[in-house]
Amino acid sequence: MSQLSVLVVVEHDNQTIKSSTYNSITAAREIIAQGGGLHVLVAGSQIASIAQSAATLSGVEKVITVDAEPLKHALAEPMTNAVAAVAQGYSHIIFPATTFGKNIAPRVAATLGVSQISDITQVVDAQTFVRPIYAGNALATVQNNGHQVVITVRSSAFSGAVDTQSPAVIEPVVVTELNQLSELTSQSLTQMSRAELSSAKVVISGGRGLSSGENFALLETIADKLGAAVGASRAAVDAGYVPNDYQVGQTGKIVAPDLYIAVGISGAIQHIAGMKESKVIVAINSDPEAPIFQVADYGIVGDLFEILPAFDKALA
Ligand SMILES: Cc1cc2nc3c(=O)[nH]c(=O)nc-3n(C[C@H](O)[C@H](O)[C@H](O)COP(=O)(O)OP(=O)(O)OC[C@H]3O[C@@H](n4cnc5c(N)ncnc54)[C@H](O)[C@@H]3O)c2cc1C
Repeated sequence: MSQLSVLVVVEHDNQTIKSSTYNSITAAREIIAQGGGLHVLVAGSQIASIAQSAATLSGVEKVITVDAEPLKHALAEPMTNAVAAVAQGYSHIIFPATTFGKNIAPRVAATLGVSQISDITQVVDAQTFVRPIYAGNALATVQNNGHQVVITVRSSAFSGAVDTQSPAVIEPVVVTELNQLSELTSQSLTQMSRAELSSAKVVISGGRGLSSGENFALLETIADKLGAAVGASRAAVDAGYVPNDYQVGQTGKIVAPDLYIAVGISGAIQHIAGMKESKVIVAINSDPEAPIFQVADYGIVGDLFEILPAFDKALA
């Protein structure tokens, strides 16, 4: 293995590779731009097809698989065992900064006794990374001085376009010590017919100004016409208008779509932190002083209950 050797932990649901993995691979390739090897780890249950897909991602030299029933639901404890077992010899262990990665990466870093650099948005060189701090109000440039580092990658900051190649070698590894102190007893999945929030090209989000969950239907009809994902402010989530996986912001999802439409959202700093990298921002708010207008490219001052139906009609 070359001096610089990067291991990307693949996020998947045992059936498909999650798009965050592609962004992580782009970041990994930037890390080894001056030379080095890129391996990926697929840990899960019955993951042969995931491993085969991962093997065709451009730049991947080897796919390591750990295929075991306790890894089926990607619970943090056994996943940590699987990653730590294969991590030796890698200079960088990379996860997406998603719920999946944020759950496992710190445990891996602690188990290995190495540092973690979280939520990187830029690779300066193989040991130097930029990451946002203070809810995105400042950017810190952080250097790793250790022999090994765990990194989480902010998906919206790196391209998800990864070419394919002829398949790399797949190497199964058996990890016998998989912590089974936790188990998944049930899960309730939100059925989304729309685009996924983190990767959608267009996002329309609603805030407390929507006044109720029922009124989110106004956003949904527009979202369906635009092929957009629907998001929300924390106030809308806390009020129970929509589930919490809709939340955009510092403590929600970070999005950077081509078009972000904020409806009835005041523009609190914690919300802005999650959407300010959007290419074009449109705000609809009845208060001309709302802070959202400071980051908006286009602003409409008015009552959303008049503007949204008119917008919907225009789209039709
Ligand atoms: C540690 C911490 C983390 C946080 N994380 C997040 C986060 O991740 N994401 C997040 O969003 N927030 C987060 N918050 C909360 C944040 O501070 C704000 O409270 C929240 O974003 C406000 O949501 P809002 O804009 O929907 O509500 P409000 O601030 O109440 O704004 C509602 C807006 O709707 C407008 N409005 C009302 N009626 C109409 C109408 N009929 N037509 C048009 N406009 C109308 C009003 O003028 C107002 O501007 C966090 C806070 C803390 C302390």
